[in-house]
Amino acid sequence: MTDLSRLSNSFLPDFSHIYVEEGAKDFPMAKDILKRLPNAEVIPVQDYKSVFNRSGQDFQAQKKSMKLILALKKDGFLYKATDVVQDAGFQNFYYTTPMLNCLYNCRYCFLQGMYPSANLVVFVNDSDFFDAARRELDSRAVKDEPLLLSISYSTDLLAFENIVPWTRKWIDFCKTNPDLMLEIRTKSALFSAIDDVRPVDNIILAWTLSPNIIANAYEWDAPPLARRLKAVKEAIAKGWKVRLCLDPVIPIPDWEHVYAEFIQMISKEIPAEGIRDITVGTFRMGRDFFKRARKRLPPSDVYYQDYEDRDGVISLPKNESAAIAEKIKGQLTDIIDENKISIWN
Ligand code: SF4
Repeated sequence: MTDLSRLSNSFLPDFSHIYVEEGAKDFPMAKDILKRLPNAEVIPVQDYKSVFNRSGQDFQAQKKSMKLILALKKDGFLYKATDVVQDAGFQNFYYTTPMLNCLYNCRYCFLQGMYPSANLVVFVNDSDFFDAARRELDSRAVKDEPLLLSISYSTDLLAFENIVPWTRKWIDFCKTNPDLMLEIRTKSALFSAIDDVRPVDNIILAWTLSPNIIANAYEWDAPPLARRLKAVKEAIAKGWKVRLCLDPVIPIPDWEHVYAEFIQMISKEIPAEGIRDITVGTFRMGRDFFKRARKRLPPSDVYYQDYEDRDGVISLPKNESAAIAEKIKGQLTDIIDENKISIWN
């Protein structure tokens, strides 16, 4: 299941053009972003959807020259997490979308099936997001548990931190809201963008790690494994306890051996006491997103396996996915306690 036609590299688009919604241009975050990109041509638009939702866009062609769109989020600030997202035991689990789309281009990413465009939308009305989070905190169903909020669900927020300091804003908000638990999931090597922040118990920095062969084949444009590991070690050295996400585990030929070596390497590189927990999951995607993502060119073998449709979620057959996860879990117990490993199935 490998596609080595394109090796990953690290890059930041030049953002030659920035579309700015009329109503967004005076927001401090919009002004700050425009100041960071002084050479970009600014194109005013009434509504970001007129650019983002146009029909007939070529997702992969746009990926080669992503444009930035600054907009206002009007509604839908927090969403209840769906079954494809791993909750690691939290009952009040939400996600939020301060940005749409990602600098990276993982072949298994649901964003290819979710959005008609690969351009990046940044919502700049941060205080509306925070007001919505406060409301949800007050009305959460299980009051004696925190509200777990994934802030990097439809993007990789930390990867973009040098242009859009959204991660830092959420961290500041979280510090004053102890009932909130933030998960900041990333493949970025950019821990340096927040390395002055003191570790906070209710913030989970989570790195998705994959064996090199999988990162190279499927995680296009994301930092190579060595750089992600370096970022993880930097975070741990600053006192953070990090979450490691082996997700998705992709069963390439000889995967057991590939993952066994990978986990051995993690155990040598990352001090066990710096690992908060580890999540493990196999590929899954909502049915509608899957159908659209599968049509994207170039085709990826990720979309041509023997999957089953479980209540609208496309995934490996349950017993197969469970067997893979159990195998990985067995290998991981050499690193951390079993009760710190959570599995999506
Ligand atoms: S890093 Fe995450 S959000 Fe970004 S392309 Fe990869 S899977 Fe998608």
